[in-house]
Amino acid sequence: MVVLPSSFTGGSHYMHKPTQDAMTYVRHFGRPDLFITFTCNPKWPEIVDLLNQGQKSHDRHGIIARVFRVKVKHMMKLLTKGCIFGNVRCHMYTVEWQKHGLLHVHILLWLEIKISPESIDVVICAELPDSNIDPALYEIIRTTMIHGPCGHINKSSPCMLNSKCTKKYRRCFRKETQTGEDGYPQYRRRSPENGGIVTQIKENNVDNRWVVPYNPVLSRTFNAHINVEFCNSVKSIKYICKYVNKGTDQATFGVKDLDEVTRYESGRYISSSEAVWRILCFPIHDRFPPVMHLSVHLENGQRIYFTEDNAPSTKSSILKKLH
Ligand SMILES: [Zn+2]
Repeated sequence: MVVLPSSFTGGSHYMHKPTQDAMTYVRHFGRPDLFITFTCNPKWPEIVDLLNQGQKSHDRHGIIARVFRVKVKHMMKLLTKGCIFGNVRCHMYTVEWQKHGLLHVHILLWLEIKISPESIDVVICAELPDSNIDPALYEIIRTTMIHGPCGHINKSSPCMLNSKCTKKYRRCFRKETQTGEDGYPQYRRRSPENGGIVTQIKENNVDNRWVVPYNPVLSRTFNAHINVEFCNSVKSIKYICKYVNKGTDQATFGVKDLDEVTRYESGRYISSSEAVWRILCFPIHDRFPPVMHLSVHLENGQRIYFTEDNAPSTKSSILKKLH
């Protein structure tokens, strides 16, 4: 058996560690409060301004990686030092790439003062802002936080599986935010009759049923797709902790190989964007506070190391024990 140790970045043992760390946080501080997914926006002026004539942003992964790294740092500073949601007890994030290479980061936040169900609306919004009151935010939400369109309008949308949207859009109209026992809360999504805003995107009327939950401060600051979700059920915690640290996509097919290096290499998919990120030695994971891993030895389960010198004697002593 060949083992790929946990010190190997991106390997299965490496990704298992942050999941364990996240569960340690849960044991000590309870459930995380916010689950934030921050996706790189290739249209950021910091990226576009550096392109040569005729280039598209996906021609320059180096620029994208550098700019996104700075934005992630800025975001974490805003969350942990700027305390925009209050003091942060602990945090964890993992950088990921989708199949077509779009960079995003999953962040888990544990707050000192938990968000109460009554104050969810202050932090998370799933409605279009009024363009007369806040035209800048309206434009950002309209361009970055609208899901799809999918369903019968666009059957070939990547979120569609068996002619259903895997992200459950479009959602239902709701007069008020509701928190259930399971899953995420159902955020307020007012219908046009109740004062909800309707906008036009590519000749389709889009209302609040299509808005991905966001935080106005983060969206305004970063002008990117930033999905903010409130974690309210203990049930979903293990899923989220695992999801955040699931590692890169891999084509799955039956590899019955005891060699973890071979297993890691086979069916592995690396986008140029991921390759550049790793070449620049940017971290794919960070957390605070650190968690110390202690190895536990079960009785009679201690490790034995065979060397050329001790192999014959160790073997005979084991055989003696067996007899
Ligand atoms: Zn969809």
